[in-house]
Amino acid sequence: MSRIFINYRRADSEGYVGRLYDHLTQHFDPQDIFMDVTSIEPGADFVQTLEDAVAACDVFIAMIGPQWLNTLDENGERRIDQWNDFVRIEIASALRQNKLVIPVLVGRAKMPTPKDLPDDIQALARRNAIELSHQRFSYDVGQLISTIKNAAQARIARKAVADSDAASRKAAALKAVRDDLVGATDSPLYAFRNENRHFPVLGAGNPDASILFIGESPGKSEAAQGVPFVGPSGEVLDEMLASIGISRDDVFTTNVLLDHPPGSRDPLPHEIEYYTPFVDRIIDIIQPVVIVPLGRFATSYILKKLDLPEKRGKISQLHGKLIKTRMPWGEIHVVPMYHPAVVLYSASQKDTLRKDFEKLRLFI
Ligand code: URA
Repeated sequence: MSRIFINYRRADSEGYVGRLYDHLTQHFDPQDIFMDVTSIEPGADFVQTLEDAVAACDVFIAMIGPQWLNTLDENGERRIDQWNDFVRIEIASALRQNKLVIPVLVGRAKMPTPKDLPDDIQALARRNAIELSHQRFSYDVGQLISTIKNAAQARIARKAVADSDAASRKAAALKAVRDDLVGATDSPLYAFRNENRHFPVLGAGNPDASILFIGESPGKSEAAQGVPFVGPSGEVLDEMLASIGISRDDVFTTNVLLDHPPGSRDPLPHEIEYYTPFVDRIIDIIQPVVIVPLGRFATSYILKKLDLPEKRGKISQLHGKLIKTRMPWGEIHVVPMYHPAVVLYSASQKDTLRKDFEKLRLFI
């Protein structure tokens, strides 16, 4: 997918833009082609609004017609020289944001030279232009379309490299948390872990996942293997993930307690307090877009940590709600859910859990 922004002066190239748009929509989803920023709210900073619109695109087409450079405003001044010229603001913004900027010449227009242009858009003159001639319009647009498609493929390849870089960086950071956890001799559960030759259970899955699940505490099987959710609750979790077309490898899973408590009892407040800094570090490393606390302990931990108004709510009221908030890396949602173990006690809860999982499709 490639999002395309077409920047143009109405009086200069409107007819060509309409023709180009018709061709582009045969190759790209019309929803991915932006032509006019129409909805600038009263009181909104229009420079910021235009910057945001440009930020959403991958390819920026600057349509340059015969009047592009010398169109004058009501005072007889060149519009391109005015600080509030939308065409100039958008081009400057695309250049600053390092977008792929393609000048497209129409109506026999010539490329401007740097000295023709205000400082903030002089770099436009160095971008290789494509000419759409009247006689060979379809052929020329074909060239433009292959350029856009090649650029999109290159972007996908770059993203794959960046993702794998992020995943290995995050995996290394998680390993450091695990090392600290292994050596956490002051943990209230350390002696029990050692006596039973258990492993601490840091978490498992994709370190670069968008969705982070936080359960309650590892059971005996989890502690024996050092992996979360490998017992009966894990089977329910797998079934729910499969119902929305994803698997454990697509998400990251951890718990509020990172060691198995004796007798599989509820976590005690001082135990939660002890493991909180570790779980906080895991969240900061993964930087998820969605956090799904499973059950009341995880829900209360995350809502209190983020100091959200829902922090005193009950899981029976909060499950399946999309609670929006911000983390240092951007906007996230907390989506509390019942713990998968509820299904083991009450089969009728499976439907509720499945419906709540459906909400996660928004983020896949
Ligand atoms: N297994 C886990 O890892 N966490 C739970 O909360 C339950 C089972």
